[in-house]
Amino acid sequence: MSEFDLIHQHFKRKTSHTNLSVGDDAALISVAPNMELAISADMLVAGTHFFHNADAYKLGWKSLAVNISDMAAMGANPKWATLAIALTEVNVNWLTEFSRGFFACADAFNVDLIGGDTTRGPLTISVQIMGEVPIGHAIKRSGAKIDDDIWVSGKLGDAALGLAYLQGKISLEGDTLQASIHALHSPTPRVALGLALRGIANSAIDVSDGLLADLGHILERSNTGAILQLATIPRTILTEAVCTKESLINAALAGGDDYELCFTAPTNKHAEILKISEQLALPLSCIGQITESTAMIVQDEYGKTLDIKKTGFDHFG
Ligand code: ADP
Ligand code: MG
Repeated sequence: MSEFDLIHQHFKRKTSHTNLSVGDDAALISVAPNMELAISADMLVAGTHFFHNADAYKLGWKSLAVNISDMAAMGANPKWATLAIALTEVNVNWLTEFSRGFFACADAFNVDLIGGDTTRGPLTISVQIMGEVPIGHAIKRSGAKIDDDIWVSGKLGDAALGLAYLQGKISLEGDTLQASIHALHSPTPRVALGLALRGIANSAIDVSDGLLADLGHILERSNTGAILQLATIPRTILTEAVCTKESLINAALAGGDDYELCFTAPTNKHAEILKISEQLALPLSCIGQITESTAMIVQDEYGKTLDIKKTGFDHFG
């Protein structure tokens, strides 16, 4: 199959808000007046970000979903994506499944695939996402203010436990196995939440590398610190019946791949945020406050400070 046929068969679809899509030297888009373009890219490399034998459909979904998540974290509305892909071989079954997963995610979030590049090489997937946000209204990492509440959506740690299972580090079964593997392979970017937080949140980030690491980016960019209450951090579905308390805490604080949003907002927005939670049917938990000192402190239910480094939160720092 020629490269042209391959692209046409697997990556050319009808678009809904694009002037010129796949097939020319460049795509053409119009950005609405009063909007600015939010642009981000994320690359997935076989052996590093996913297993070589990963399910192609889920890989297609995830490679777009993690990019859309960056739009959510900016309060931007995702609209266009490009896909650059290196393939070791042309495997039609694999491509069919990959593009099915990719377009399932694109359809779910109304994103047009408008172009890309296809080449031979070690399996690598590089997606660029573009979205719109009203000029000056993007939610940045640098906006956290002292005394802001710190919030997180959904729950944290499921994806990390799914990964630990696949690496043979813990054993899971039944519903908990299903749910943690689903969290790892099929994350749901929190786009509606990001849009609802415009004008409410002072800062936001998506949790891709672990809560402490990602909140750390907000603190660094905002030149602030944080105090977190461990008991309020929404944890994995798993219980201590299947793994130790330490691994559960570790997964919630340092586990990556959850793609929930962590954001900060003034205390007087508390009720409004709970209303958003209800409208979106998405749990939102207030887990701490932004502080003036630049330290990050996590307190347990007795008010004792956890020694974050000693407990092996490897992503932290
Ligand atoms: P060029 O030689 O000008 O770089 P290509 O032959 O690489 O063009 O690509 C032809 C068209 O197909 C372009 O519009 C490009 O954006 C699109 N395209 C190539 N690969 C992909 C892909 N994996 N997904 C989506 N569009 C693609
Ligand atoms: Mg090219």
